[in-house]
Amino acid sequence: MDISIIGSGYVGLVSGACFAEVGHNVICVDNDQRKIDMLQAGKIPIYEPGLEEIVTRNVASGRLRFTSSIEDGVDNSQVVFIAVPTPPQPDGSVDLSFIERVAREIASVLKPGAYRVVVDKSTVPVKTGEKVTETIRRYNKEADFDVVSNPEFLREGCAVPDLMNPDRIVIGTNSDRAMALMHKIYDPFNAPVLVTDVNSAELIKHAANSFLALKISYINAVSAICEASGADVEKVASGIGMDKRIGRNFLNAGLGYGGSCFPKDIAAFIAISDELGVPFTLLKEVQRINAAQRDRFLKKMRETLWVLRDKKIAVWGISFKPDTDDVRSSVAVDLINDLTSEKAVVTCYDPKGAEKAKEFNLVPNAKIVDSALEAVEGAEALVIATEWKEFANIDLKEVKARMHTPLIFDGRNLLDPDAARKQGFVYHSVGRP
Ligand code: NAD
Repeated sequence: MDISIIGSGYVGLVSGACFAEVGHNVICVDNDQRKIDMLQAGKIPIYEPGLEEIVTRNVASGRLRFTSSIEDGVDNSQVVFIAVPTPPQPDGSVDLSFIERVAREIASVLKPGAYRVVVDKSTVPVKTGEKVTETIRRYNKEADFDVVSNPEFLREGCAVPDLMNPDRIVIGTNSDRAMALMHKIYDPFNAPVLVTDVNSAELIKHAANSFLALKISYINAVSAICEASGADVEKVASGIGMDKRIGRNFLNAGLGYGGSCFPKDIAAFIAISDELGVPFTLLKEVQRINAAQRDRFLKKMRETLWVLRDKKIAVWGISFKPDTDDVRSSVAVDLINDLTSEKAVVTCYDPKGAEKAKEFNLVPNAKIVDSALEAVEGAEALVIATEWKEFANIDLKEVKARMHTPLIFDGRNLLDPDAARKQGFVYHSVGRP
């Protein structure tokens, strides 16, 4: 199949590379010329394990190329994916201007008689497909096209394996012609395919992310009860999670969810439900618990350190989760800024997220250093804000030797409390004695 993807970010680039990997011809389009220049020069603008190898291999085989021209993409492909941002507006509703603009741009280059399937892969509110169809039709009366919803469920940090072996592929369309082409694209992946109408497919994505966030907030609320009662949230989560109806995934207590998807998608789902006149108030509680989790953690830090002003605090982790350089809406970033706003002297480190944090000046009052050990030099406390494996495997003896005071606040329950205490650390985590 000949495929183009408009938007070559985390979703577009990884999807494009994986489509090429299974044998399709892919053109990745982006209007950020700097990104296209990098990609054409063989540089990958994001960090995602395994991505560089498959991009390099498929560019070399001629199945993957990059352009800043939507016309080039649309002319030379039967199926055009949209993978542009859908950021939140201040009231939580989705800013759909990127999608609307791409719909107009596609309309302007569609040629009469050349059937195209336009597939929305961005996360969008239910009924967006209808709007995209109306928009293309308004700007191009002759065009022969169908609009399909195909939400993406990849997780950053394991996006390549997620795309190559998805749990399910959701395809929302009422058109047999579009469906036949979508099957050709996805057949090589040998994954379960769920076919729905466009509205249901769009809703599945928001409902799925909201449910996962709800699971996180649920266990975080339980962690507060554990702290108040002396129970251990890890054991409670194991006991709950062994029930097949519930499952252990997403029952990890910590600082709460962040990142470019969950906070915005939950806010969007709340806004959509309000707009439809069926307010989803449960999700407001999910948001409240998530915010309270960081507040409780900070309170614990204040209780131990008394005054944060002038305290030297090391923070491990800036990215919103491990194995990614993505620092958008990262709880680690928020926490670092909370600490510096109380005038703590923060030194932080992240294996992959440092560059993006510097580029966007996300932690303006903290110092970013090049190693985990450098960060703890002379520190009066260490905070673990992102659960990178590197931190779990570190030599705690060495960490203690470098710190001023052996005190750890583990916001991700990454370390074994006994091992940390055996090394002489005063150790606090979330929901564990
Ligand atoms: P991103 O910001 O990494 O990438 C979007 C890209 O689109 C950028 O490179 C940008 O330059 C480009 N772009 C914007 N307007 C354009 C235009 N008019 N023409 C061409 N290119 C344009 O975003 P992302 O993380 O890949 O997310 C894209 C969508 O996928 C969002 O709706 C997001 O919610 C959804 N999604 C993201 C993830 C994730 O983990 N990142 C997972 C599932 C779904």
